[in-house]
Amino acid sequence: MRRLAILGSTGSVGTSTLEVVAAHPDSFQIAALAARDNLDLLEVQVRRHAPRLVSVGSETGARELRRRLGRTPTEVAWGTPGLLQAAGDAGADLVVSAIVGAAGLLPTMRAVAAGKDVALANKESLVVAGDLVTAEARARGVRILPVDSEHSAIFQCLAESGAGQVRRIILTASGGPFRTRPRATFASITPEEALKHPNWSMGKKVTIDSATLMNKGLEVIEAHWLFGVPVDQVDVIIHPQSIIHSLVEYVDGSLLAQLGVPDMRVPIQYALTYPERRPNAVPRLALETLTGLTFEAVDREKFPCLDLAYEAALAGGSAPAVLNAANEVAVERFLNRRIGFDEIPTLIRKALDAHPRRAVGTVEEILEVDREVRRRLEDY
Ligand code: MG
Repeated sequence: MRRLAILGSTGSVGTSTLEVVAAHPDSFQIAALAARDNLDLLEVQVRRHAPRLVSVGSETGARELRRRLGRTPTEVAWGTPGLLQAAGDAGADLVVSAIVGAAGLLPTMRAVAAGKDVALANKESLVVAGDLVTAEARARGVRILPVDSEHSAIFQCLAESGAGQVRRIILTASGGPFRTRPRATFASITPEEALKHPNWSMGKKVTIDSATLMNKGLEVIEAHWLFGVPVDQVDVIIHPQSIIHSLVEYVDGSLLAQLGVPDMRVPIQYALTYPERRPNAVPRLALETLTGLTFEAVDREKFPCLDLAYEAALAGGSAPAVLNAANEVAVERFLNRRIGFDEIPTLIRKALDAHPRRAVGTVEEILEVDREVRRRLEDY
């Protein structure tokens, strides 16, 4: 029986994780749940899974949830202290880190520092603080298991081979909803259009990131830290069918790939049951129904976010945190119709230029960079 804490339990990965848990009731127990403000769903989840602890974003939310739960014995906490308690002190063996954005950094670090294995969906924590998170994980002897479908694929293809035998990692990208749309029309893209991902059903932030290809840029940095492969040995290729979830090319020219239907329950389940595999009810990939697997190079002029991510990753230091904060601000503004789709990379470029790279050695220094970028972007 594995005891889980799920941070971000009402989001897309959180709800899929609870589906995996419900499909294997003898394998998992829920120790803690944490979410921001979806009290309706959180109440249902608490009643169903009876965690020891539940944490919400605000004190008001916590009072309301406590009232709704009545005599249910679950402890209700709130805010950052509640989130950290869920990550480190609720008796979990494995923490599913599925909060969106740099907000996931502190609880992810807390879980690692408390010696918990982490199933990581919060790629931003590795983007902004990959060296700190992975160093702490090594020091504590804990595993960081990828939930991101591409990284789960690579993790499976790497198996026992050392990173020294890898020539490059190849991340596949669907290309998002605008792969074939002319760049000249990008200024008129609406949030509704950008939220229609062709293959994957995901939360809003990652769906917009997929449309700009920033998601793939963040995943390049995530792969670099997870697998210890230099950034310039992580490549990206467009694969519109999203059947091959990523590949590893070895020094002898062999390419290993992982294939499957695009369904997050598969990589989530593998992270939860690793090193075992378990049967499940996810639809099978019927090879005979596939009409073709195609690949093409990324149009880097059309999707400048990808090169911005490589630039920040190669610069290192504070640059990835600047990139990430500016991207979070830009995505939110685009969703609120304050900037156009084509202005997302413009805003990130401006932030990278306005914040020269500096060394960062602690989580607090990284969070200070994050706050600085957000403050300065208020004037733009
Ligand atoms: Mg992904």
